[in-house]
Amino acid sequence: MTRVHGDEFDVARILPKPPGSSERKLGWEKLKNLGNFNHNVATLTSRDGELIVKRRGTTQDPGEFIPCEFCYGFFQSHLLWKHVRKCLLKPVDAGDVASSDAVANGRLLLEAANPVATSADVDLKHTVLKSMRSWQVLSRTISF
Ligand SMILES: [Zn+2]
Repeated sequence: MTRVHGDEFDVARILPKPPGSSERKLGWEKLKNLGNFNHNVATLTSRDGELIVKRRGTTQDPGEFIPCEFCYGFFQSHLLWKHVRKCLLKPVDAGDVASSDAVANGRLLLEAANPVATSADVDLKHTVLKSMRSWQVLSRTISF
């Protein structure tokens, strides 16, 4: 008899043994990005401190940086779609993401994380919640 729960299947898929696999490295990468994401949200909220970004662009305007909805890394908004297209943490079934969607979803991710957020499109919010749920799955898999 094969015992496979949904969660166990995810663990098996995301974190195949042995440790040191690329999936595990990506898990740590996302964990690091999420830490930076939280730091950046606090920075943007207080408008004080420095943003931690994946790639420094030509602008020094913190408002120009948007997080990737898949890996939580911060990118200059006009470069975000390029990253999202090849983001290693994008689920295989996510398909292509339009550049405007990449920025909109990233902004929404920021809004959802920001305690003073006031408005959000319901459909997009659903996307964010879905992506946060998949993060929770991932965080469970790397906690042991
Ligand atoms: Zn990404």
